[in-house]
Amino acid sequence: MAERLAAGAGKKVLIVDKRNHIGGNAYDHFDEAGILVHKYGPHIFHTNSRDVFNYLSRFTAWRPYQHRVRAWVDGQLLPIPINLDTVNRLYGLNLTSFQVDEFFRSVAEPRSPIRTSEDVIVSKVGRELYEKFFRNYTRKQWDLDPSELDAAVTARVPVRINRDDRYFTDTYQAMPLHGYTRMFERMLTHPNIKIMLNTDYREIERVIPYEEMIYTGPIDEFFDFRFGRLPYRSLEFQFVTYERAVYQDAPVVNYPNENPYTRCTEFKYLTGQDHPKTSVVYEYPRAEGDPYYPVPRPENAAMYREYEALAKLAPSVHFSGRLATYKYYNMDQVVAQSLTLYKRLADARPRPIAQSA
Ligand code: UDP
Repeated sequence: MAERLAAGAGKKVLIVDKRNHIGGNAYDHFDEAGILVHKYGPHIFHTNSRDVFNYLSRFTAWRPYQHRVRAWVDGQLLPIPINLDTVNRLYGLNLTSFQVDEFFRSVAEPRSPIRTSEDVIVSKVGRELYEKFFRNYTRKQWDLDPSELDAAVTARVPVRINRDDRYFTDTYQAMPLHGYTRMFERMLTHPNIKIMLNTDYREIERVIPYEEMIYTGPIDEFFDFRFGRLPYRSLEFQFVTYERAVYQDAPVVNYPNENPYTRCTEFKYLTGQDHPKTSVVYEYPRAEGDPYYPVPRPENAAMYREYEALAKLAPSVHFSGRLATYKYYNMDQVVAQSLTLYKRLADARPRPIAQSA
């Protein structure tokens, strides 16, 4: 939004961030060993939107990267999303795509309507695979049973009858060649953009006059929790550097049934960095801490709608992003949301402020 408003609409922009760095949760940096890591957990860019990809391409070159994940289940590292190889290796079979499709149909439990995250998986692959791959991971991640979460949560992970073991199938899959932070720095070079770090916007909003605000924090906090607290899920990150070039067999290993952490990500797979050591991050789900995930379930959506109605009454404040719109959005969806918001604002005021003043 800052880049568009400054470069596109000639606005003067002040970015205010509580943290001591830009880039929000997509921030990356070189750790003590000199390895590029994602401070707030793995961020993997993928999109089907040519507009989003082209927009970001103005600020970064890319490293083609197709993400792959393995799940540690019954003593084996198996492909997740569940595919033909997952089933064959788990059960020691040699099924064809046709046969695995038959197998899924034979164990699937029809559900209608498909309302919850349990329904999605059980209706595709049956109870046993659901329990091995999804039930406990979801309970650990969300502290809720899949039956208490919207279908959209586990529907993020498909089921395949072929051997495709990519986590995503989007048209554009790539990582910013020099990292996310570098990309954001290049977005913010416009002379109209100033940056104020280590600052809560509430510390300065009465001191620094502004016409409009783009708010990307939690929407319930903005309105002083007047309708109650929206639940957000947090994570604690444990970073470890190992004195060897490679640590694990896949970029990400999920641990649905063992360990207090959900997954382990080895960054060099993502970044392609060449280094004699390697750094990984383990993710421990938490109820308290920085908000990372909205919790998609009907009662939370209902509370969000109350805040959203209030937000509509504050026409000079525009809410964008995961926390401010309480949507479990991926990075590309947030970029699309912001480009759409910018277009709406620009269309509402066709003349750049610099010319109209
Ligand atoms: N999930 C699961 N087992 C897995 C992978 C995912 O149960 O091995 C479920 C879990 O509820 C998770 C959701 O699917 O929160 C979405 O997974 P995704 O990998 O998209 O999560 P994110 O990367 O956004 O944390």
